[in-house]
Amino acid sequence: MQTTFTAEQLADPHVEESEKILRKCVHCGFCTATCPTYVTLGNELDSPRGRIYLIKDMLENGRAADEQIVTHIDRCLSCLSCMTTCPSGVNYMHLVDHARAHIEKTYKRPFSDRAVRALLAAVLPYPGRFRAALILAKLGRPFAGLFDRMPALKPLAAMLTLAPASTPRRSRNASPGVHAAAGARTSRVALLTGCAQPVLDPAINDATISLLTRLGVEVVVPQGETCCGALVHHMGREEAALASARQNVDAWTREIEGNGLDAIVITASGCGTTIKDYGFMLRLDPAYADKAARVSSLARDVTEFLATLDLPEPAVKPDLTVAYHSACSMQHGQKITRQPKDLLKKAGFTVKEPREGHLCCGSAGTYNIMQPEISAKLRERKVKNIEATGAALVATGNIGCITQIASAAKLPVVHTVELLDWAYGGKRPAGLRP
Ligand code: SF4
Ligand code: SF4
Repeated sequence: MQTTFTAEQLADPHVEESEKILRKCVHCGFCTATCPTYVTLGNELDSPRGRIYLIKDMLENGRAADEQIVTHIDRCLSCLSCMTTCPSGVNYMHLVDHARAHIEKTYKRPFSDRAVRALLAAVLPYPGRFRAALILAKLGRPFAGLFDRMPALKPLAAMLTLAPASTPRRSRNASPGVHAAAGARTSRVALLTGCAQPVLDPAINDATISLLTRLGVEVVVPQGETCCGALVHHMGREEAALASARQNVDAWTREIEGNGLDAIVITASGCGTTIKDYGFMLRLDPAYADKAARVSSLARDVTEFLATLDLPEPAVKPDLTVAYHSACSMQHGQKITRQPKDLLKKAGFTVKEPREGHLCCGSAGTYNIMQPEISAKLRERKVKNIEATGAALVATGNIGCITQIASAAKLPVVHTVELLDWAYGGKRPAGLRP
């Protein structure tokens, strides 16, 4: 694609990067066919190619964001399906991240929108606040239907509907500490415990620690870890996202330079995609660029790490058919497609892949709160495809997808690592009927 940025505009490294991305796009439109919002809404401006044109126009003309561009960029799930499809290697992720940061700086959203965004940014990345919010949500739940009838309060209704009926007890594993390997230590990893995940489903990190330590891996939950920053990053709040990234880079660097790390293990693929991008996000910060690149190179999804280990024979024969839902951040963001399915099969599960596996379930960070109507349509489509497999349960590797699919599916939805832990001698996942 031809661009006409001036030399002065290109002096801004963010614009320079976006210009390189824009020039790679050849307008072929292949990406439209696999974009969930285009498939759902049928509007070119809600397709990757349409958004690329809108972003190009905004950046090239040095314009502030307007309502049109905000509408169509807000509807983008950042699912990155377009990146998997694109034959020209267009890095849509970095382009849309730049556009979101530009929107945040140049556009004043309506008051209700600003209030909901500020609330989400102030609550979700902090486990203590999030836990308190879930308890309050129980009181607000009866009003969800009422709020849903008022357009400005629809995100609030979505929040109340998504909040689980009960909040699990906090796990001791969420606190910093070292979990020793059982037997001879073969490797040492840091575990990102996360922000929303340990509140919504602490069993995921518990299963990860239980499985890894049984396999000879020492697991450290480092002091000073925080939310990966993805939630605020996707809202265009660059400074907040970079502050989280720097805090995590510091925490993991202390471990790397202390007792050493073979990997940084992540159990939510949404976080994994962002941490693997820390090297890019902090490339312009001389104090952090190298450390961040080192952290990104050590980041591994838990299934990616498990696939490198010598696994024993499974301890139980589960004899269950599992529908494997590949989160967008897993398959498109990190290109991890084979390992989770291979691990489940090796552990004795029969694995089915739902139709339209490339399409997002509509969770996408805070998307199911900010865009509840499109999100609900995608969830319905996803659940229908999952249920058509005839599987007994659903496995996936991202807490957002677990919450989203479980809010509509009749089947139990668990994290892949919970099934693997069970198969290799750990606890049966609580959500599974005996
Ligand atoms: S990230 Fe997903 S929703 Fe956004 S343009 Fe690409 S395919 Fe469409
Ligand atoms: S598939 Fe790639 S090159 Fe083709 S229009 Fe989409 S982003 Fe551009």
